Amino acid sequence: MISIKNAKQIEKMRAAGHLVAACHDLLSKEVRPGITTLELDAIAEKFFRDHGAYPTFLGYQGFPNSICASINEEVVHGIPGNRKLKEGDIISIDLGATLDGYVGDAARTHAVGQVSDEARRLIDVTKESFFRGIAYAKEGYRLSDIGHAVQEYVESEGFSVVRDYVGHGIGREMHEDPPVPNFGKPGHGPRLVKGMCLAIEPMVNIGHYDVEVLDNDWTVVTRDGKWAAHYENTIVITGKSDPEILTLL
Ligand code: MG
Repeated sequence: MISIKNAKQIEKMRAAGHLVAACHDLLSKEVRPGITTLELDAIAEKFFRDHGAYPTFLGYQGFPNSICASINEEVVHGIPGNRKLKEGDIISIDLGATLDGYVGDAARTHAVGQVSDEARRLIDVTKESFFRGIAYAKEGYRLSDIGHAVQEYVESEGFSVVRDYVGHGIGREMHEDPPVPNFGKPGHGPRLVKGMCLAIEPMVNIGHYDVEVLDNDWTVVTRDGKWAAHYENTIVITGKSDPEILTLL
């Protein structure tokens, strides 16, 4: 069942979302050659706890850390560790905060120093595909119109959209109904109505969309080893006008 949030609940979603945005802002200034993903994780955990929030990912289905840190061919769900970022890498950071019972969830992909033109384009196309998608996140459209717009744009740029992982409704729980694919035919699924909160999160591969999970049971990598990027925000449908992006400041 899709939960529709009232104004009071949306205010709480906004507060959690803004904390998530601020954390991404903080981490974006820390991403550089030499830093480990575990150091980035510690910064995020401390930031959330200092602001009275809980890092939603920590312990979620047994996940051991506060952020997902996925480097290069890693798509999502990378576990922070002692690997140092190096010049030319790209890193996708996904994180969530629970504040006053409501969750914000967002992901960004960063370039580490100077990256290849192709990697830069991958990051930019992934981010832009989110905005192409949310052009349809309003009353008058159906859920699959969002994913269709994402897929059409990504494929027009020569990249592919991951099929095995999708976005989701969000609220008191990080993962609520409905699932939000980043692909598919338009005009299907639930009608979008004011008060729906969705985490829309294109995962885009340079090569084929096939992915696999590593032996640690978490880290998702591309099957062909080519690089991937991820961009996500939590949004709320506001009616017939543009949605509000809760995880941008
Ligand atoms: Mg998400």
